[in-house]
Amino acid sequence: MQEWLYLVIGIAVVGVLAIAGFVGTRVRRSGRLPEGTSTDVLTTPVETPPATAEAPVVEAPAEVEPEPEVAPAPSLETPEKPASRLVRLRQRLAGSNALGRGLLGLLSRDQLDEDTWEAMEDLLLAADIGVAPTQELVERLRTRLRVEGGKTPDARTVLREELINLVDPTMDRALKVSGEGDAPGVVLVVGVNGTGKTTTVGKLARILVADERTALLAAADTFRAAATEQLATWGDRVGVEVVRGPEGGDPASVAFDAVKQGMDRGVDTVVVDTAGRLQNKQGLMDELGKVKRVIDKQSPVTEVLLVLDATTGQNGLIQAKVFSEVVDVTGIVLTKLDGSAKGGIVIAVQRQLGVPVKLVGLGEGPDDLAPFDAAAFVDALLG
Ligand code: GDP
Repeated sequence: MQEWLYLVIGIAVVGVLAIAGFVGTRVRRSGRLPEGTSTDVLTTPVETPPATAEAPVVEAPAEVEPEPEVAPAPSLETPEKPASRLVRLRQRLAGSNALGRGLLGLLSRDQLDEDTWEAMEDLLLAADIGVAPTQELVERLRTRLRVEGGKTPDARTVLREELINLVDPTMDRALKVSGEGDAPGVVLVVGVNGTGKTTTVGKLARILVADERTALLAAADTFRAAATEQLATWGDRVGVEVVRGPEGGDPASVAFDAVKQGMDRGVDTVVVDTAGRLQNKQGLMDELGKVKRVIDKQSPVTEVLLVLDATTGQNGLIQAKVFSEVVDVTGIVLTKLDGSAKGGIVIAVQRQLGVPVKLVGLGEGPDDLAPFDAAAFVDALLG
């Protein structure tokens, strides 16, 4: 009887141990998962902490705080200093310096006879220098290149000097970008659409930034939505703000707003882009006249730049004349000089309007706008 009792107790003990072992295995396999945890979580590889026998060390959640999201600061471009830009003129005037080569070729002939002078006139006229300046130049060269006392003056030196005189190094080409006292300088940019007006305003903003001036742009070409966007892109690249109005809105009110903001913020220069639809002279006169009057009431316009496409020749000169009758143009920006074989337009347009070329466009690159200089231009022409 006693043996039976021992046997029953023995079986019971083995049974209890077996059950305890089975449960232990299950607990170890399932780790520390709380009841009801979905098995899906187990298949998530990275975030599941490794199962360890040790008690988990609970760290203070210092690093759990998400980093505040900061928009990356736009990296602004540093525009090239204006003084070094004209260096590009020589290589960009690839078409026009054919004129220089042609003139020098004629002047190196043994005999400077009538045929030579006529050929020279043809060359100058073809380069758009204009009739009166051509005749003046040929006359001056004929006089100065006469063989005197058996001594022939150096033709290249004489030609260079006379061309520089024709371009007129005495003209004041400084941009008036400052106002009186605390007032900002106001630059009004006018010209026919397609000449490169908006591009010039954008490039001008870069020149101002390169000269460490503060600027504001006015997108007063409200007829072309693309013009406003174009200007905003130029401004963004160098951190210059653009004041804009509703599409098709009143250009004068955008110009007014921009100049007012410029005054309130104390910026150095406000540059105003305008619409250049040349539908008729009266319409143009009304519109530009109003823009100028509205600005002048707050702070005087210090510079009116007329943008002209150098590749348009005589047609460009006619347009220039119309604009100069509508507003008092104080300086000319000659764009696309890089694509023109007719650099002589510099001389013709100055003569026709009596105002200096102050800036030249040398390409589509952001810093391809350079302050004009008579001697550098002639040297580039002569190659
Ligand atoms: P807008 O209608 O007068 O404002 O003219 P845009 O500024 O829109 O310019 C018209 C086109 O001329 C654009 O494709 C410009 O990139 C181009 N352009 C402007 N200036 C120059 C320049 O100096 N050289 C060259 N090659 N293209 C230029």
